[in-house]
Amino acid sequence: MIDLRSDTVTRPTEAMRRAMAEAAVGDDVFGEDPTVNRLEEHVAGLLGKEAALYCPSGTMTNQVAVFVHTRRGEEVLLHEGAHVFNYEAGAPALLSGVQIRPVPGENGILSPETLRAVLRPENVHFSRQALLCLENTHNAAGGKVYPLKDFAAVAEEARVLGLKVHLDGARLFNAAVAAGIGAREWCRHADTVSVCSSKGLGAPVGSLLAGDEETIGEARRARKALGGGMRQAGVIAAASLYAFEHHVERLAEDHERARRLAEGLREAGYVVESPETNIVLVGVGDDAEGFLGALAREGVLATPAAAGRVRLCTHLGVGDEEVERAIEALARARSEMTRR
Ligand SMILES: *Cc1c(COP(=O)(O)O)cnc(C)c1O
Repeated sequence: MIDLRSDTVTRPTEAMRRAMAEAAVGDDVFGEDPTVNRLEEHVAGLLGKEAALYCPSGTMTNQVAVFVHTRRGEEVLLHEGAHVFNYEAGAPALLSGVQIRPVPGENGILSPETLRAVLRPENVHFSRQALLCLENTHNAAGGKVYPLKDFAAVAEEARVLGLKVHLDGARLFNAAVAAGIGAREWCRHADTVSVCSSKGLGAPVGSLLAGDEETIGEARRARKALGGGMRQAGVIAAASLYAFEHHVERLAEDHERARRLAEGLREAGYVVESPETNIVLVGVGDDAEGFLGALAREGVLATPAAAGRVRLCTHLGVGDEEVERAIEALARARSEMTRR
């Protein structure tokens, strides 16, 4: 099987497993795990922030951020396709007691104008607005890079309006590598940033939340309250550290393979948007589930996406040969669907 469902399906490499086996450990709740401490310092440095906090998942880093930036009854503004809103099990309501204001925008991008359009003045009727969440790359939009200029503009508008800004950067390094811009350039415009080592970077587990010392101190308390305080976590943190040290530049290979995949599928008659990073959205018509079944019989796994499309994701476990075989499998699945 060629598994293109997500860049989360990668297995740790041999070298990564060695780093895990050899990791120095201690009790991280006491702040004594040297590998976790190194990881947190390393990622804070990559993102240009004072401090970082290691968490089990990107859902936890995002939700810890929502928790520390808001009070109950307040409102969080985000794009209507945001992961924080759609794919985190209702956690903003469940854990922070906040309400969500989904805002529309092309390719996951919010403009200062759309932000002003949903502004609530101080009035006894209105929820107070506390936080703007932005996402880069934007998952539901197909791995789109948030242009730095647009990001800076909307973040600046948020600041003027008195909102904190959180960046869901689960795939921030894909954006950085694709745009040839350092990750910290986006981070400069955000109070907190979440990054995942378990997506394209290929670690089995682990995300980090970065920000200033004070905010990350609060986040550390919130993580403990949510049950995310870990003990000898160095054995898994070592995989994340390895990923940040060795697997960032190679994301360019995933992007190149996504481009080749899109090109081959276009030649096979598909309507495909040109991918900016490692996610390819392919038009398959009304019966996406039927198509995915046919595709699985041809040896390729993918996931459904909005608007009659399926999502294919390139990653560490997919080489050039797998890409060519996937193109052939999709071509066969297409003829099977038209024969029906
Ligand atoms: C994957 C992802 C997350 C976090 O997911 P976890 O599975 O909880 O690690 C957050 N935001 C985006 C945009 C993602 O793609």
